[in-house]
Amino acid sequence: MNSSRPRPILGIVGAGQLARMMVQAAVPLNIDVRVLAKTSADSAALIAPHVEIGDPADENAIVSFGEKCDFVTLDHELVNLVGLEKLLANKVKVQPTPKTLQFAKNKLYQRTSFQAAGFPVPSFSKIDTLADFVEFGDRHGWPLAAKAITGGYDGRGVWIIGDTEAAEKLLAETKEAGINLYVEEHVEIEKELAVLVVRRPSGELQTYPIIETRQEDGICHEAIAPARISQAIEENARKIGVDVAEFTEAGGIIAIELFLKADGIILINEVATRPHNSGHLTIDGTITSQFENHLRGVMDWPLGSTTMTSKFALMINILGSSEADPSDRLPLNHSSDTAIHLYGKVARAGRKLGHITAVGDSPETIYQSAQKLINHLV
Ligand code: ADP
Repeated sequence: MNSSRPRPILGIVGAGQLARMMVQAAVPLNIDVRVLAKTSADSAALIAPHVEIGDPADENAIVSFGEKCDFVTLDHELVNLVGLEKLLANKVKVQPTPKTLQFAKNKLYQRTSFQAAGFPVPSFSKIDTLADFVEFGDRHGWPLAAKAITGGYDGRGVWIIGDTEAAEKLLAETKEAGINLYVEEHVEIEKELAVLVVRRPSGELQTYPIIETRQEDGICHEAIAPARISQAIEENARKIGVDVAEFTEAGGIIAIELFLKADGIILINEVATRPHNSGHLTIDGTITSQFENHLRGVMDWPLGSTTMTSKFALMINILGSSEADPSDRLPLNHSSDTAIHLYGKVARAGRKLGHITAVGDSPETIYQSAQKLINHLV
């Protein structure tokens, strides 16, 4: 007699490093995990036990991949929504749902709906003409931040604009490229924070310790948890996170990026309805990683503990340079308070090729350990 129960089948649409780390979390949970990859060289396609080749932006590819799954989740937002809707109609459990995903796909929709719901967001406006642009700048002060409404990531799609001339140039360039813009006030940022919340469709949710991030040119370089902020700010950030997760009906991880101003005011920058770069430190720094909890949330399983396993955890991204491939420089011997995670991606300048983490009792010790390791790798 065969008494084994069928394994739940979970499909991940897209096969970047987030999908790769979801696959790594799925194996010990005995989930039959599959990825829809654009190419067999994609980061998650290199390690997933079952790979289907197809374009996440293609409705048919999503439907034929997802039909064979019990659950479907996403590596990134650039996916075909009609395909996801069809899967939902077909009783496949898709998380995040297209409704939730819409907040991450369209920044203007996100700003508008969050503002209407009373969440703190920077002043913003849709713009169609140079006159709209200049009027906003004159009212709120220059510089201002112009953003692509859809499709931006890692700072591509964010422009800090200082005057009318720069605005005119940007409008001409983006019009030519078919990019629609909105503008918002340029925020004087004291610290960038991220609050990660994991939520089950049936309602249970948990928050991770607040994470502090450092960006350069719109790319996340490092993240440290817990953020070095007052208890009042921590509680406020956590409350915003929980309220946003409920408002957007998140399924799995939702990451809410925040701007903290010098006067203690918090504004929402943006949300990602999936695991997030700032949360990579949860693999080595908390009891249940964001990837495992994402899968638990997506499948409506009981959530794992988000408590930290040491006082502080630090993550530094390994960004590609033209000279060095970190895979060729892997130190086989490094201290036990550090860990290396490579994504199997071809090195290219500025590309996220992996990350390292360090855990310990103080920010000073973890920065020291991390720096020693990173010096070997890049
Ligand atoms: P992406 O979606 O490409 O990650 P974001 O909207 O998160 O873009 O912006 C990337 C970075 O640009 C932010 O982390 C922040 O450092 C900076 N930035 C974005 N919006 C503003 C703003 N309104 N004022 C000041 N800096 C901003």
